Amino acid sequence: MAPTTIVSNGLPETVFKMADENSVSISESSREIPPIAHPTPEDAFGVAANIQYHAHYSPHFSPSKFEPEQAFFSTAESVRDTLIQRWNETYAHFHKVDPKQTYYISMEYLQGRALSNAIGNLGLTDAYAAALYKLGHDLETIVEQEKDPALGNGGLGRLASCFLDSMATLNLPAWGYGLRYKYGLFKQKITAKGQEEYAEDWLEKFSPWEIVRHDVVYPIRFFGEVLVESDGKRKWVGGEQLQALAYDIPIPGYKTKNTISLRIWEARSPPQDFDLYAFNAGKHINAADLQFKAQQICAVLYPGDETEEGKLLRLKQQYLLCSASLQDILARFKERRSKDKPFLWAEFSKKVSVQMNDTHPTLAIPELMRLLMDEEGLGWDEAWTITSSTVAYTNHTVLPEALEKWSQAVMAKLLPRHFEIIAEIDKQFHALVGKIRPDLEDKLSSLSILDSSNPDKPVVRMANLCVISSHTVNGVAELHSDILKKELFADFNSLWPTKFQNKTNGVTPRRWLRFCSPELSTIITKWLRTDEWVTNLDLLTGLRQFADDKQLQTEWAAAKTANKQRFAKYLQDVTGIEVDSNSLFDIQIKRIHEYKRQLLNILSVIYRYKKIKELSKGEQMKAVPRTVMLGGKAFATYAQAKRIVKLVNDVGQVVNNDRDVSHLLKVIFIPNYNVTVAELAIPASELSQHISTAGMEASGTSNMKFALNGSLIIGTLDGANVEIREEIGKNNFFLFGARAEDVPILRKQREEGKFVPDPRFEEVKDFIRSGKFGDYDYGPLLESLEGNTGYGRGDYFLVGQDFPSYLEAQSKVDEAYRNQAHWIKMSILSTAGSGKFSSDRTILQYAQEIWKIQACPVP
Ligand SMILES: *Cc1c(COP(=O)(O)O)cnc(C)c1O
Repeated sequence: MAPTTIVSNGLPETVFKMADENSVSISESSREIPPIAHPTPEDAFGVAANIQYHAHYSPHFSPSKFEPEQAFFSTAESVRDTLIQRWNETYAHFHKVDPKQTYYISMEYLQGRALSNAIGNLGLTDAYAAALYKLGHDLETIVEQEKDPALGNGGLGRLASCFLDSMATLNLPAWGYGLRYKYGLFKQKITAKGQEEYAEDWLEKFSPWEIVRHDVVYPIRFFGEVLVESDGKRKWVGGEQLQALAYDIPIPGYKTKNTISLRIWEARSPPQDFDLYAFNAGKHINAADLQFKAQQICAVLYPGDETEEGKLLRLKQQYLLCSASLQDILARFKERRSKDKPFLWAEFSKKVSVQMNDTHPTLAIPELMRLLMDEEGLGWDEAWTITSSTVAYTNHTVLPEALEKWSQAVMAKLLPRHFEIIAEIDKQFHALVGKIRPDLEDKLSSLSILDSSNPDKPVVRMANLCVISSHTVNGVAELHSDILKKELFADFNSLWPTKFQNKTNGVTPRRWLRFCSPELSTIITKWLRTDEWVTNLDLLTGLRQFADDKQLQTEWAAAKTANKQRFAKYLQDVTGIEVDSNSLFDIQIKRIHEYKRQLLNILSVIYRYKKIKELSKGEQMKAVPRTVMLGGKAFATYAQAKRIVKLVNDVGQVVNNDRDVSHLLKVIFIPNYNVTVAELAIPASELSQHISTAGMEASGTSNMKFALNGSLIIGTLDGANVEIREEIGKNNFFLFGARAEDVPILRKQREEGKFVPDPRFEEVKDFIRSGKFGDYDYGPLLESLEGNTGYGRGDYFLVGQDFPSYLEAQSKVDEAYRNQAHWIKMSILSTAGSGKFSSDRTILQYAQEIWKIQACPVP
């Protein structure tokens, strides 16, 4: 029997040790455990028997092996049994109670590994650790077998996943819809050439978490034409037809029975489309043609949209997601109205709320209109009332190039009926403005949905369609929501002042503290004398009163050190570089983008390197050793971002191999950034960088994860940084840089040639130009910091402008780090002030202020 000493992360530490030391013979130990199905085990023996059962009776490998990989799949299937049971109960309960339900539609989810999260939420971590020990394995190794399903690019997808966790935990009748991309976001490898992309085949050996629903299949049409019938009804016919097939990924709540669903769609061609005649005639390729074409639709996340083909594919993805999800929502609405409950369509928006995560699912609007009118026979006005009281839209960006626009020609060809509906919505909007706000008529060219100002390229503006059709529009941090109201959507705001809201983002405290830093969690629980902070994050403020307590500081520092050592080991494994765990861990991890300004970071690192080299030995003794780590993927076609990755790696090569400085400075590029890497890096971080040009980062969520883990922030007044700084206190935040309201003025001055660069900025650029970091051509990167014109050039991101104040903030960091007791205090205060940034708070606000839904806990 395994010892029962349990440390508070739930992992019996002694169990791990014994598994290592005694190295139990796998076949021998597992023979003692009979393979018995136990779908909802509660103790280690039941769990072990159920894992054995799956190893024997739902095999995916030859029976002779039970190595970590095999053990992972059997373990995951065993967990899945429990999740299926709970999912069924939750669904039956929702069906019976018939509450208003929210559907969150998102093109992206970044779920991260599911095994450790699921057993953590189920409260079965100890049982699973002990069971695996009985089977000759240790939980940690098994957990590491799981691939990250990378069905998203970055923050927007991770937000959707945090939201699902909170919706389940808060027992809300809600679930998510997405797409089942065969290949997720690419796998990043770093070579001498810089970033290289490889296919991420997350489904290579199937995913144990998805449950295919062969009975949940909907027809999807593309192209074709619109027929007008004798009674005036319009009907979309012809074109290509395929099907959307549902897969459910169960999402368990933390310490609740409620288990909701992420339903993802896969495109396939209807079975009768397999051309048997052609196949028999030997034309094998032709026969499989339609199958192949259908499979392309969900092949990859964000196919490049440089080509017409690529654009069409992306629009097909968007439509598939919206159409399948809405058909499903309508079907459920009808299903829940049994024969004794005759239904009224007018009730629809009292039972259904649809949230669009950015404009990617905008086609939900014309699709709901089409289904209600053409399939259900409603008139325009009734369909419009229902649609516009059902859908709500979250805006995630004010970057002009990220505001989606589709060619009218492409839209009219692929989705002729939807294009008609969109044009009609636009027409009615014009009529409305003429009637109630004639003063806005001269603004209509920028407010309308259809923009034909460029006769060669008329487009559909998806954001305008969303704003006009949604009952609520929200930004994702206070600053961002203000910019929406005052700038991007100012005229809409004057037309519908109550439509606009703010919902500051949040992150789930389960994945982003409780499970990713068990060490810190134990300490927090001990000092707060409760673990209720895991579901009531505001309780963290209780740590403030102990921030000066030497005992807490000692424990806190020890936990940080343990996390640093764990991450240092990981870095050594993946990069071969040895990291000093006593150095300041300074981390910037996020998608590589010019507005996020990884370039500003690396330029200051180069400056630091130069200055360290100039120090005397005595001065060197006083310097604070730092390990600067950057990680993130650059979009495959984003050349400037890839140059930044290359520069970071080249600087690392030089600095890390320079014996004069490598004890004081290391520069490491963390390869293949994803959720799992974030879970290792964030708890280890002491300083994290959130240094976007003010006004450009809508919110950011990694800033919240870092602050929650006691990492101090160096940052600009941008996105949620503003609110984080307010919550944790100005003195615990290293602020620098231009303010959002000054950015347009500074850009103008720059364009007019009035900007005088700091000599240190020039010095660093000259140093790169000198070839110090190799012979790669950094010309285009340096040029982006020079000229004075236009978007994307002429230092649009104000790196030169903010460089001096950034260097000053960095000196303050060094100074502060010298006083370790004070630094630890700031770290404690950072965690203590992070309560607001729980996604539970965010989701509760969505539920109360936008969705109008209530908790529906399974009894
Ligand atoms: C949280 C998270 C992000 C978002 O990071 P930002 O710094 O807010 O842009 C992106 N990717 C992953 C894997 C994350 O966990």
